[in-house]
Amino acid sequence: MRKRLVIAIDGPSGTGKSTVAQRLAARLGYSYVESGAMYRALALLALETGADLRDAAALGKLAAEVDIRFESQGKDGNRLILNGRDVTEAVRSPEVTQTSSIVSVHAPVRQELVARQRALGRAGGVVMEGRDIGTQVFPDADLKIFLDASPEVRSERRYRDVAHSGPVTKSQVLQEIEERDRRDRERELSPLVPAADSIYIDTTHLTAEEVVERILGLVERRVRDI
Ligand code: C5P
Repeated sequence: MRKRLVIAIDGPSGTGKSTVAQRLAARLGYSYVESGAMYRALALLALETGADLRDAAALGKLAAEVDIRFESQGKDGNRLILNGRDVTEAVRSPEVTQTSSIVSVHAPVRQELVARQRALGRAGGVVMEGRDIGTQVFPDADLKIFLDASPEVRSERRYRDVAHSGPVTKSQVLQEIEERDRRDRERELSPLVPAADSIYIDTTHLTAEEVVERILGLVERRVRDI
């Protein structure tokens, strides 16, 4: 039987990570885990319960107690279930988006969510995307990809993603992306950096399908090498 790999895809927002990871998982018959959705779910809960966003211990406790599940919809990706409630759309709001990168700086939060991510990928046959999958969650992943794109293209893609869900301007989206990326890159714990053994793909001039095809080629080679 072909070995079922652990594939880590990291990179900043707007690089097409989610689309690519989801399509890749569907093509390979693997499960797809969007680790950012877990930080988003926790951020939503923190906002709803009025938690202090600077209180690492309180947020860690919230993370340890919360029930976060993914319900696979096949090629349509996952529904995100927070304490039994479908929050797939709710976690996409600008407020939750910014808050997700604020709660994710705390060590107790990361410890808890990283442990859950490892449990989801342990058996292999998984495409997991995020910021620290290749560096922290699965340092021994079979294949590590780092996706990047120019800031203009990333904010254009993000704008297309969010424009339908409310009034927002392109400059607001660019500002939001820059602020969140800076926080993700500069944080002390698990900052967004490419793993030393990751394969860097600049997606500025590539379609999602072209990126998927390129990674499928790398998967083929990797499976042959193992
Ligand atoms: O990937 P997404 O944009 O949904 O992630 C939301 C936020 O969650 C990121 O800005 C980042 O702060 C945090 N995150 C993280 N580690 C991951 C995935 C996401 O810190 N592996």
